[in-house]
Amino acid sequence: DSFEAIGVKEPLVSHLAEKMRIKKPTNIQKQVISQFCSATEKDNDLFINAQTGSGKTLAFLLPILSRILDMNVRVDRKSGCFALIIAPTRELASQIYSVASMLTNSCHYLVPCLLIGGERKKSEKARLRKGCNFIIGTPGRILDHLQNTKVIKEQLGHSLRYVVLDEGDKLMELGFEETITEILQILHDVPVDNSSFHGLPSRIVHVLCSATLQGGVKKL
Ligand code: AMP
Repeated sequence: DSFEAIGVKEPLVSHLAEKMRIKKPTNIQKQVISQFCSATEKDNDLFINAQTGSGKTLAFLLPILSRILDMNVRVDRKSGCFALIIAPTRELASQIYSVASMLTNSCHYLVPCLLIGGERKKSEKARLRKGCNFIIGTPGRILDHLQNTKVIKEQLGHSLRYVVLDEGDKLMELGFEETITEILQILHDVPVDNSSFHGLPSRIVHVLCSATLQGGVKKL
């Protein structure tokens, strides 16, 4: 079993092996990536039932990147944002961002952007203005930008295809249900432009990761 066999594209496969010393997919990665990479016709929403340590971060990042790399069109940071990844804490968002940064080192024209509280909002706005292909952040700060930073909606319109809710159980536990609902509401009002980005899903695909379905996660 190799990453290549389940649909992960170059230069990611080589980069994983050479720079990150990751050569074989974990069980969760095998299941998620093989479904996710080939699902052009029916891109269903996905529930990943996995704990931290199972390799879930790569399980959702690798197929999203692979689908983008597999498109016929060349994209860069100005092409738009393809994925919004929401994590319950700054720490977790930063971890996902650093994995995304490592992966995009192998395809440097793709750019991730981290939106977490605590930092000056001005610099986040400046980075959004420069353009990015993945937004990773915490619920409150993402909603804040969606409501108050005009450029973020311009980046998401047309291109957004994936919304990942990581650690759904923790998101509920920390009381983010309402914030997430508001974010999803805003995103659903953003039109998906199917005339560009052939090879990507034709609608927004939702991915929910959680170690459990308890504590309201099912509702989420
Ligand atoms: P996660 O569950 O995404 O938080 O990942 C937990 C840890 O497992 C991280 O340190 C990853 O770098 C590592 N990891 C993820 N996938 C693999 C793999 N296929 N082989 C070895 N280590 C991995």
